[in-house]
Amino acid sequence: MEPYKKFQQHLSSELNEIRKAGLYKEERIIASPQSVSVKLASGQEVLNFCANSYLGLSDNPGLIAAAKEAMSSRGYGMSSVRFICGTQDLHRQLEASIARFFGTEDTILYAACFDANGGVFEPLFHDSDAIISDALNHASIIDGVRLSKAVRYRYANADMGDLEEKLKEAQKHRFRLIVTDGVFSMDGNVAPMDKIYALAQQYDAMIMVDESHSAGVVGKTGHGVTEQYNLRGRVDIITGTLGKAFGGAVGGFTTGRKEIIDMLRQRSRPYLFSNSLPPSVVGAGIYTFELLEKSNELQDRLHENAAYFVKRMTDAGFDIKPTQSAICAVMLYDAKLSQEMARRLLDEGIYVTGFYYPVVPQGQARIRVQLSAAHQRTHLDKCIAAFIKVRDER
Ligand SMILES: *Cc1c(COP(=O)(O)O)cnc(C)c1O
Repeated sequence: MEPYKKFQQHLSSELNEIRKAGLYKEERIIASPQSVSVKLASGQEVLNFCANSYLGLSDNPGLIAAAKEAMSSRGYGMSSVRFICGTQDLHRQLEASIARFFGTEDTILYAACFDANGGVFEPLFHDSDAIISDALNHASIIDGVRLSKAVRYRYANADMGDLEEKLKEAQKHRFRLIVTDGVFSMDGNVAPMDKIYALAQQYDAMIMVDESHSAGVVGKTGHGVTEQYNLRGRVDIITGTLGKAFGGAVGGFTTGRKEIIDMLRQRSRPYLFSNSLPPSVVGAGIYTFELLEKSNELQDRLHENAAYFVKRMTDAGFDIKPTQSAICAVMLYDAKLSQEMARRLLDEGIYVTGFYYPVVPQGQARIRVQLSAAHQRTHLDKCIAAFIKVRDER
């Protein structure tokens, strides 16, 4: 028998198991730009409440023009990693823009935040060190920690008592790093950075926060959790993505203390052994941070939209998880209900996603609504009306 045959049977039966469990992921095809409303391949136009385009920049004409301009002046691709011949003036400019945005000393770009998190722990921490990680941290943090030789500790989501216990246990190590998401993507809660900072001081630990869902969103002017908690310049490592609020293309970064960034440039494997970001993405990135420094209009509108949506949904009797971000979890608890309701909402022209176990805990099924600065009041009202209609017809 051909060597693949046996493996093929194995995969087919596993894929069938996934299908039987109802966990097979089908991709819905979109035949338009990513925007506040999208056209599905079926021709149906729906309002989009499940993109990470928090500031509505994915189809912003200014970003598109900046990307085209950078492609015209600096070419299509870099055909190199950064340290051989893949660093243009634009790359350094974007790194400086990101450092200015977060109030940090320097920045290193990656192809994605998945790579930033995958490449941050292994070069910095060894078997004499401890990494103390929130249980709900993103998969890329979990994988990144696995790649390092540091000893792992895990504390229950945002549970400061548990974090303190783990910090006590970890006193025997040389260095300690607490790592947390800024906003947790299933609930929309913000990590209690003030308390984490106090514990870190007390127990001699450094702090890393992944701002993927919080940068551009959280804080009075959208500068992330370090703005919200008045900790600018005091968090040692920040990672983030250009794939959500900041335009939604690709790209990730680590920003923070100068020596840390310096060491990552020397030793971080996804940086050393993977291609440099293309000029179009970098040029649009520079434009994005300029735009956000110039005006706070988008962040303000996002905050207004999120507050309006949560208030109106709560008034309508929906069970909404307390949120401090642009993520609004409409709790339904029942897995099947979450799927049915999402399907019915799509019929009504509202694109949202239902999540259930194992993505969220057993019995905690929900529909996640993601707000954007691009939503207008009429869009929000249409979404709320559809939720009410679909609920009441049951
Ligand atoms: C989305 C996300 C990532 C991955 O970002 P990419 O740039 O798409 O790889 C990493 N961490 C968190 C917390 C995220 O939400």
